[in-house]
Amino acid sequence: MKKIFVLSICLFLFIAKSQSQDKTQTKPKLVVGVVIDQMRYDYLTRYAERYGKNGFNRLLKDGFSLENAHYNYIPTYTAVGHTSIFTGTTPSNHGIISNNWYDKFLKKSIYCVDDNNYKTVGNNGVNGEKSPFRLYTTTVTDQLHLAQNMKGKTIGISIKDRSAILPVGHTANAAYWYDGDNYNTWITSTFYMDKLPKWVIDFNKNNKADEYLNQTWTTLYDLKTYTNSRTDNNIFEGKLKGQEAPTFPKDLKKLRAKNGNYSLIKAIPAGNTLTADFAKAAIIGENLGKSEFTDFLTVSFSSTDYVGHKYGVAAVETEDTYLRLDKDLADFFTFLDQQVGKDNYTLFLTADHAAVHNPAYLQSLKIPAHYFDIKKFKAFVLEVTQKYFNSKELIENISNYQLFLDKNKIESLGLDAQKVAEKLADEALDFDGIYKSVTAKTLQTTNFTDGILNSLQNGYNQKFSGDVLLIPYPATLTGGRKGTSHGSGNSYDTHVPIIFYGHGIKKGSSSKKYEIIDIAPTMANLLQIEFPNGTSGKVIDEVLEK
Ligand code: ZN
Ligand code: ZN
Repeated sequence: MKKIFVLSICLFLFIAKSQSQDKTQTKPKLVVGVVIDQMRYDYLTRYAERYGKNGFNRLLKDGFSLENAHYNYIPTYTAVGHTSIFTGTTPSNHGIISNNWYDKFLKKSIYCVDDNNYKTVGNNGVNGEKSPFRLYTTTVTDQLHLAQNMKGKTIGISIKDRSAILPVGHTANAAYWYDGDNYNTWITSTFYMDKLPKWVIDFNKNNKADEYLNQTWTTLYDLKTYTNSRTDNNIFEGKLKGQEAPTFPKDLKKLRAKNGNYSLIKAIPAGNTLTADFAKAAIIGENLGKSEFTDFLTVSFSSTDYVGHKYGVAAVETEDTYLRLDKDLADFFTFLDQQVGKDNYTLFLTADHAAVHNPAYLQSLKIPAHYFDIKKFKAFVLEVTQKYFNSKELIENISNYQLFLDKNKIESLGLDAQKVAEKLADEALDFDGIYKSVTAKTLQTTNFTDGILNSLQNGYNQKFSGDVLLIPYPATLTGGRKGTSHGSGNSYDTHVPIIFYGHGIKKGSSSKKYEIIDIAPTMANLLQIEFPNGTSGKVIDEVLEK
């Protein structure tokens, strides 16, 4: 009797233990990585009162929010951001040093995902000739594939090609992006497949782009209630071609011909809705979250970035875009609950960079802000090389605040490339607008442990970056005086939301400082797989249920 009692106690303990192990050690059926292009952290708080319960607020309430998360490199551009989120490292390791850059070896400017070894799949245009070949490390989705012996599906989706391709790395089952102009089609590259799956063909036939574009964009609520933004008509905002002023309502049906026809959808909130429509179709069409293996879907909402560039940070258009995105997200999360099951997915939401307030607007408030004149700077640099080295042919390219020297020319003139670089770095500070400058040599031989020079160093790739690297004043833009942009290592560009939610994630928030490169190792730890092979971030322990 006693023996049986002890035995049954043991059995009970064994079952209890294995049940609790089950609970913490099971893996999500689906991971969803959501990236909101150009979302500043303060968009979570600035517009909070009008977000609904089931969008951003659902993640904040039931997930874990990092309130002090930053990009830790320069430049904060889209391709670089998406790559760093999913590789857990910075341009110094992963090789995606900008959206476009000067390729020293090809001696020409290139675009991050262009690859003419591949053809477009989905229409007869050229916008599918892409691949991730310039990415030198693996992504967390590559590692998931390796860990599951290539089982489970990894799919990237965005209106922008680079934001679909780079997150899902080299082994993706698919990446899809939206074409535009006269093509109302989601396309891919022969890098991934030779023909579109049936669900994509069906989606392209039946999608709602025309319905969305034949509407008028009016504000979701009464225009007068947009008190978190400047007045609708002001001098700091760009406007759609064919509009007299940057104001509501925007008659899209009338404006679409002058604004790239289907491309107009990228620059309005409905571009996000179309992206969510496509993501839902992918989840159904590919049966994501239904197998014994973990699937990984990345969805980048890009229309926020087009809207941000045109109208800027404090615009009614931007506020309205986020209020509408909140509804799209709420709808998408409810769809995930129904399709995949509430406890079966893990999701994280972040941004690929943030954005600065319009510099002219800041100036109007007496806050120091600047416009950098690249043309004048190029002329200045040539004067410097003429004055000190008696030649105007020593520079191959100036882009992304980097100078690329013509080392063959320098050698043929019997000059020392390092001396030329040092002289240029010194003299650059005499140009109004340049705030800091260093040579590549300095970045190779000095370890900057914090501050903006650390960010510059993390963005510096010894093989691909330039020979002199410059940093402009805070709150500097290069383009026109309307709307905004991004790219710096300053807080307005680096501070973004990171919220984890769902299977394996605790509820809570933290104001401890984290870096964007911490997301990938954290997800790898949650999935119990190897880290991406260039990882330099760390596991964010406090978000994980263990
Ligand atoms: Zn972006
Ligand atoms: Zn942008």
